[in-house]
Amino acid sequence: MIGLFKTAIGDGNMELRETPDPEPGPGQVVVEVKAAGICGSDLHIFHSDVKVPIKPPVIVGHEFSGTISKLGDGVTGWKTGERVTAEPSASICGQCVYCRTGYYNLCPERKISGFWVDGAFARYTVVPQDRLHRLPDNVDFLAGALTEPLACCVHGVAELTGVSAGDNVAITGPGPIGILSMQLAKAFGAQVIVIGTEKDSGRLLKAKELGADHVVNLEEKDPVSLVRQLTGGYGADIVLECSGAGSAVDMGLDIIRKQGKYTQVGLFYKPINVDFEKIAFKEVKLTGTFSQRWTAWRKSLLLMAREKVLTKPVITDVFPLSEWREAFNKCESKQGLKIILKPE
Ligand SMILES: [Zn+2]
Ligand SMILES: [Zn+2]
Repeated sequence: MIGLFKTAIGDGNMELRETPDPEPGPGQVVVEVKAAGICGSDLHIFHSDVKVPIKPPVIVGHEFSGTISKLGDGVTGWKTGERVTAEPSASICGQCVYCRTGYYNLCPERKISGFWVDGAFARYTVVPQDRLHRLPDNVDFLAGALTEPLACCVHGVAELTGVSAGDNVAITGPGPIGILSMQLAKAFGAQVIVIGTEKDSGRLLKAKELGADHVVNLEEKDPVSLVRQLTGGYGADIVLECSGAGSAVDMGLDIIRKQGKYTQVGLFYKPINVDFEKIAFKEVKLTGTFSQRWTAWRKSLLLMAREKVLTKPVITDVFPLSEWREAFNKCESKQGLKIILKPE
């Protein structure tokens, strides 16, 4: 088969390569990939400025859906032809405090597919049966390929932050993660305002279409005064920083009300300058979030099945795997939202 490989550490070093079709080991299945999303971290793998360890040569891609094509020895409860998606936690130690408490996303031994283990930008990918999830009947392969980013949002927004009906939620960064987080906050009954820049105007429109109560281009209108106006002068109960831009952190700490909850969802990939004292003066509760775990996957698939979160409208482009370079360029220019690669 053909796979999109990160061939070596260093900027670039990514190419399509011929490689033997994979065989499943004990407890593993082979999934025939139908759709695989490009994640911001894939661009960082391309540029080799990603913080998560990678082990090239490795097939990139960790957000996907497909059908089971082969079962390894000892696999039970799964059959070929089933429509599935899978968690990227390819292996974990199973022994540490995090693994034993279900937070294996934080396991120090965790190996991630698409980073350390061959991932999904290929015709076939190998997955341990414990990481498989069935796609609901009403979730097609394109929609199902976004289960992983949605699960990241469910973990950060629902599991770690906690949103309640009536909360005023401000989201900075209307990329795929920001828009999925917006839909989640809406599903919990929050009022949501999504904040972006002039460059994000198309994305802000999409956020509005998909249910955001308010969207604001910060180059046109001051989001801090707008949020105060919408919240009786207090500020947002919750800020979800999804842009990974340093300036958005300071703005988020201005937007948030005293004793509000601030969650850092986006990644900066470099140290940033922040007036951290604002957290003390406002008694802000600060949370980080990284990756996802089984509980978030289960909840994501239920939300998709019940159409409480729509992942498909977040997809703006579908490219064949052979046109990966064009797809990566489009992703990097922040033109569309989620961009999908389809192996031929
Ligand atoms: Zn991702
Ligand atoms: Zn562990």
